Amino acid sequence: MKEKIIIIGAGLAGLYAAYLLQNEDFDVIILEARDRVGGRTFTQNGIDLGGQWISSLHHRAMKICKQFNINFHQQFDHGKTVRYFNKQREELDGSTKPDVINNLTPYLDIFEKLINSENFFTTQKSLDQISFKEWCDKNIPNKNIYNTFMYNFQLLTCADADEVSMFFWLYLLKQGNGYSALTGIRNGAQEFVIDSGAQMLAHSLAQEVNIIFNSEVYEVCRQDNNYQVITKDQQIYTADKVICALPLQLIPQISWNGSIEEDRLNFYQSFKMGSVSKVVIEYEKAFWRDKGYSAQIISDTPPVRLAYDACKKDCNAIVTFIPNDIGYTDKEITTQLAFLLNNNEATKPIHIHRKKWAEDKYSGGCYFSIPMLNMLSKNHHYLTSNSHEIYFIGTETAKEWMGYMEGALESSERVIMQLK
Ligand SMILES: Cc1cc2nc3c(=O)[nH]c(=O)nc-3n(C[C@H](O)[C@H](O)[C@H](O)COP(=O)(O)OP(=O)(O)OC[C@H]3O[C@@H](n4cnc5c(N)ncnc54)[C@H](O)[C@@H]3O)c2cc1C
Repeated sequence: MKEKIIIIGAGLAGLYAAYLLQNEDFDVIILEARDRVGGRTFTQNGIDLGGQWISSLHHRAMKICKQFNINFHQQFDHGKTVRYFNKQREELDGSTKPDVINNLTPYLDIFEKLINSENFFTTQKSLDQISFKEWCDKNIPNKNIYNTFMYNFQLLTCADADEVSMFFWLYLLKQGNGYSALTGIRNGAQEFVIDSGAQMLAHSLAQEVNIIFNSEVYEVCRQDNNYQVITKDQQIYTADKVICALPLQLIPQISWNGSIEEDRLNFYQSFKMGSVSKVVIEYEKAFWRDKGYSAQIISDTPPVRLAYDACKKDCNAIVTFIPNDIGYTDKEITTQLAFLLNNNEATKPIHIHRKKWAEDKYSGGCYFSIPMLNMLSKNHHYLTSNSHEIYFIGTETAKEWMGYMEGALESSERVIMQLK
């Protein structure tokens, strides 16, 4: 008889694990709390309100695109970019870097050296005790450079720099091929956009696997030789092995009845999701392109902190991210865009699509879960290890591209190796 596996969660990690397990000798079902697949990828009418970009550095995502004939295009980056820091608006042509960016280099070199140090988890563990902000306070006297790193930190993590360790910052850089790859478009994390939206990766995988929707798992009990997995509507499923594919901070919300270690649960409990709203503003025409702007904006002033062109066939749009969204109005967003792009057309959108991820019960925020100070260096083995026959996957457990769709896929590949 085939061994039975239950996967909790039909995000990319859960789906890809189920897909890969089909070729092995297992009987697999996924229990998904929502009525849809894709978790933190969510595409509405072709517009991505969750995960969006893939990269030539994301080999697994590329492979899935090829396998399922999913087309993608280069992120538009032609024309002037806008930088608004310290109440000063600068327009930069694509090839010129402002001085402050060049001045980051000595610090990037320090990060690079620390990242590449032998036995990173051991040799750099003291940096898990100090926050990123504390490290910058001590080491970066130049205010412009300091502010640029604070900005990058907030936009990359959607978390507060005084709550997250320097160690985690380095870990993030290490996972994502370094600072340039994480922040860049060409050969960087923002390189390609999937024509039909990133959720298409999940939809494609979902066609090939068994999923039971509206099945929020709330209890798991270990029995003599197997596990009972119980959903909120009191359905009971039995499995030989369980793969938990949830964002880490959601795992302790399930009652595990002693089936996983206390220390492991405490570690997962120490994670907190970042908080960001993703806003896509649709216009009749791509007026910025006509005026020679790429719509790439970085700004230290909310609500518009980061923006990119998000035009697709039949849709002219700009995408922007609002970390710690305190409820900025559509008008506040479009008025600031008009100022930044120096064009009043920005105040006349035809539609604004918005998703506040912090309010999403089954994600709990975004982009990814972040550990409290001093937790990761001590407990990182709990990211990839199993507890008896309970296995843990999801982007937060990845060894590469943690926090990204690619990380979710990497974690699925890893669990297949563990199960073999
Ligand atoms: C706004 C935003 C922008 C992003 N941009 C990018 C980007 O451009 N590029 C990129 O690569 N990544 C991006 N990401 C991150 C990327 O989307 C995620 O890393 C990835 O989708 C995570 O996949 P996962 O399978 O690990 O987790 P999830 O997608 O969170 O999947 C977990 C699944 O578990 C389900 N679930 C939760 N609780 C239960 C329960 N109790 N029982 C059953 N099921 C449950 C959830 O509904 C969900 O389907 C972005 C994310 C967001 C939110």
